[in-house]
This record gives sequence, C-alpha cells and structure tokens, in this order.
Amino acid sequence: MFNIVIFGAPGCGKGTQSEQLINQYGLYHISTGEILRNNIAQKTPLGKIADVYIKQGQLIPDQLVIRMLEEVLDTTPEAKDGVIFDGFPRTVHQAEILDKILQKRGGKVDAVVGLEVEEQELIERILKRGRETGREDDNLETVKKRLDVYHSTTSPVIGYYTEKGSYQPIDGSGSVDDVFSQIKRHIDSKKK
Ligand code: ADP
Repeated sequence: MFNIVIFGAPGCGKGTQSEQLINQYGLYHISTGEILRNNIAQKTPLGKIADVYIKQGQLIPDQLVIRMLEEVLDTTPEAKDGVIFDGFPRTVHQAEILDKILQKRGGKVDAVVGLEVEEQELIERILKRGRETGREDDNLETVKKRLDVYHSTTSPVIGYYTEKGSYQPIDGSGSVDDVFSQIKRHIDSKKK
C-alpha cells in the first residue's frame, strides 16, 4: 500500500499530475472535487448541499467530505493497494482524520507532494479552464474567494506535514512532463 497526497492551491495542476501518477504507479485516484461535481450533476442530497458551497468558492463542511471519503474507501477494493488523494486534505482537521482513516486500514500517508505556482499564474490557468470547460466555479470572483480560503484554511496543512517530515515542495510552474519528472523522482526515493 502506498498513499500519495497531491497538494496545492486551486489551479496548481493537481488533477493533471494525478493522471500522470495513475499511469505511472497504477494507484487509485480520489479527487474529492470531482466526486462532489458528480454528486451535483446527479442531484444527490450531498450534491445539493455541495453546490451552494462550491458556487461561493467555500469548502464543503469537513464532516460531509470526510464521510464521503470513507464511503469511497469502504466500497472500492482497488483503493486497498494505495490511493492518490487529490483535493483532500484541505484543512488540518481533514489531515488529522486522514491519518486515522489510513491507520485503521493498516496504511499511512507515504508522500505529500506540494505543487507551488505563483498566484497570477494560478488565476490565469483557472480562467482558461473555465473558458474551455464551462466549470461553474472557474470565474474570477469565485477564484479569488477560493484563493483566500486556500491561504487561510488549506495552507496550514503544509505545516502539519512539514512537522511530520513528509511534505515535499515541487515547482509546479514548468511543463506537465517537467513537473511530473520532479514528482516521480521524489516518489521513487520514498518507495525504496
Ligand atoms: P481546485 O483545486 O481547482 O479548486 P477541486 O476540484 O479540487 O478544484 O475542488 C473544487 C471545490 O470542491 C473546492 O473549491 C471546494 O468547494 C470543494 N472541495 C473539494 N475537496 C474538498 C475538501 N477536501 N474539503 C472541502 N471542500 C472540498
């Protein structure tokens, strides 16, 4: 079992690099944002709640996201070999709970990769994605809110993992291949 957290601000490339990681290591990918968007599209009870928060650029309350994550882990046999966590944890509380969840299942967070990209570049990438995909929360007003929430509530997670010696910052400003080769070097050093 090998569990990777791919971490960073909105637009830093978590989803893109997760795809590279899936191809390379065959791990199961859990994107909490993607699961929430699927719930919204299917108009589930969770989706109806999540829609309100996501439109405002706010985080979904911890207990809802945590319950959702546990359900995925409980019902997905492929996740037993290891998971790429993309978009989770987003609060220190979620990080603490993730340790407990994995511990219960005989695992731990084995590597945390933090993609670092300058703010102006993040905004440009997200607005471009919004134009290309029509993703509803990828507009300037919501992006600014999401970046505020990232700085106030999500970035303390860096301190949490740094204290444990598991946080690896990666320069996320280069090409997809360039960023991935840095990530791969780090993961391979941890896997030994
Ligand atoms: P991005 O990283 O580009 O903001 P995501 O798809 O990871 O995109 O997340 C989209 C939105 O889903 C977030 O702005 C937030 O509202 C919600 N969300 C995703 N993951 C979490 C989480 N772990 N805790 C709370 N809210 C979450």
